[in-house]
Amino acid sequence: MAYVVTDACIKDFVCVPECSTTAIAPAEGDPAAAGATQVFINPDECIDCGNCASICPQNAIFSIDELPADKTEFAEKNKAFFN
Ligand code: SF4
Repeated sequence: MAYVVTDACIKDFVCVPECSTTAIAPAEGDPAAAGATQVFINPDECIDCGNCASICPQNAIFSIDELPADKTEFAEKNKAFFN
């Protein structure tokens, strides 16, 4: 399982340093950050700690099991960013 960032993300990057691993990218200042519409979570690195979801001011991050019905596509979009 993993957490998933949705399009409610405003790319303020507050979650990136709070991640227990290095699952969230791009980080502020990364070359990829300018073109990215949001940040993403690498499902292969996420350990389901929930830190990111609890700190997100936009409530943009969900456990994959709790994604709203209209946001399910973001599970694949998060994964695809790292492929
Ligand atoms: S749930 Fe924890 S490990 Fe997974 S992306 Fe969020 S902060 Fe990182």
